[in-house]
Amino acid sequence: MIYPIVVYGDAVLKKAAVDIEEGSIDVKQLAEDMFETMHHASGIGLAAPQIGKSIRMFVVDGSPLEDEDMADFKKIFINPEILWEDGDSWTFTEGCLSIPGIREDVTRPSRLKINYLDENFVEHEEEFDGMRARIIQHEYDHIEGILFTDYLTPFKKRILKGKLANITKGKCDADYKIKLPKKR
Ligand SMILES: [Zn+2]
Repeated sequence: MIYPIVVYGDAVLKKAAVDIEEGSIDVKQLAEDMFETMHHASGIGLAAPQIGKSIRMFVVDGSPLEDEDMADFKKIFINPEILWEDGDSWTFTEGCLSIPGIREDVTRPSRLKINYLDENFVEHEEEFDGMRARIIQHEYDHIEGILFTDYLTPFKKRILKGKLANITKGKCDADYKIKLPKKR
C-alpha cells in the first residue's frame, strides 16, 4: 500500500517519535508499505513520521543511487539509537520527500554506530560511514522530530521561507501523493 507523504508544516514531523513494542503492530507489513511508498516517490530513505506515524522506524534503500557500493544498502531500522558519531564532517546536498523541491547543503559527521532492531525484533549494533551514515542520520533525525532545514543558517531559512510556506499549502511539485498539514 502506498501512503501519501506528509509534507513540511505538519506537526508529526516536528515530534519525537515513540518506540515500537513488539507485537503491537505488524512491522513487516508496515516495512513493505514503507518501501513501496518510498520507491514510488524515488526516495532512498523514509521514516514512519513521513507517513503520519509517530513511531521509531525507518527504511533505507540505496539502490536508486548510481553508486554500486550503495546497491545492497536496503534495511529496516526499528527503535534505533545512534550510539556515537565521529569522523571528519562533510557536506552533502540533501533533499527530503517531505520538503519537495528544496535541496540544501548539510554538514554531518562521516561515521556512526547504531543499535537497532530488525523486522524480526532481533537486535543489531553496526557501524556505517559515508553515504550510508548520511542516509541513516537524515532518517534518524525524522524520528527525533528534526528536518534538514533545521540545520540551515537564519539567512538561508529566510531565503527559503516563501518556498516552505508554499509547501505547507501544497504549492509544490511532487510526482507522488502528498498529505497536506491539517489547517488549524
Ligand atoms: Zn527526509
